[in-house]
Amino acid sequence: MSSVTGTPSAIGLDRLCVIGVGLIGGSLARALKAAGACAEIVGCGRSVESLRRACDLGVIDRYHQEPAAAAAGADLVVVAVPLGAMRSIFSHLRPAVEAGTVITDAGSAKGSVVADARAAFGQVPPNFVPGHPIAGTERSGVEASFPELFRGRKVILTPLAETDYRATARVSAMWQATGAEVVEMGVAHHDQVLAATSHLPHLLAYSLVDTLAKLDDRAEIFRFAAGGFRDFSRIASSEPSMWRDICLANREPLLATLAEFNRDLGRLATALEQGDGGTLLAVFRHAKNARDNLYRG
Ligand code: NAD
Repeated sequence: MSSVTGTPSAIGLDRLCVIGVGLIGGSLARALKAAGACAEIVGCGRSVESLRRACDLGVIDRYHQEPAAAAAGADLVVVAVPLGAMRSIFSHLRPAVEAGTVITDAGSAKGSVVADARAAFGQVPPNFVPGHPIAGTERSGVEASFPELFRGRKVILTPLAETDYRATARVSAMWQATGAEVVEMGVAHHDQVLAATSHLPHLLAYSLVDTLAKLDDRAEIFRFAAGGFRDFSRIASSEPSMWRDICLANREPLLATLAEFNRDLGRLATALEQGDGGTLLAVFRHAKNARDNLYRG
């Protein structure tokens, strides 16, 4: 993994095209406008209502529902749609790829996006730079977007051997203009790391809340749920279809991490059955130290 630095002011974007003006695409557009980093932003998406709302909110300047038309004449195209829609959007972006326009995406898994690009374009074009902002909230849609979302957060780019370094530099400068720190890593490494730090926690939060919500005395249980439960369960309020797409797209690394988690949870269950407080204490202490170190200062 390497960290990339540069001069955000060197970004010089005349026209940016954002396909999928939701939480991520909308926040990116707002951040670039706030930074004065882009002269014009053209939106594209499925719902005219939502695109009109994005115009009314000043997030985008105009929109087009057809991806190829929206991308025409853009310096940079950002695809920020759910993972399940990536391949179809890419297949409409052939004219932009052929024109040499730099294209990037914001998808939460990278192996699936690279496979989608390969399927849609016949090969991964040198002007396509896979990317993933490590920032988000449990809310969705343009109404939830805000310009500070990426400030101080990391954005991971996973350029391939065939990626043009100038395209990577352009995408990197765009993210830096939002206040984010850009890092580069390999596709497979990204997917393993994110399976552990993001995808598994979402799966666990959904699963725990689902289990409790099926219990007969759920009303009583939730009546006494306090801050700890609220913190732990917050991400179970995220958009279900988006997280279905992410889990399926990153299935293998997620299954591998889930298997390790299941094994350790099984050990905890055994310790509990046997009244083995030593094992419980050792696991809790180890976890507390790890978390304290992670968020120290
Ligand atoms: P969102 O639901 O807020 O926005 C998605 C947008 O894409 C919406 O405007 C929707 O109308 C549009 N869209 C959906 N299907 C489409 C299609 N077929 N054609 C055109 N537009 C379509 O979602 P989001 O949270 O902004 O996520 C967008 C992408 O960013 C996803 O790939 C997600 O994996 C990734 N991501 C999300 C987060 C997060 O925490 N929310 C963080 C990092 C990356």
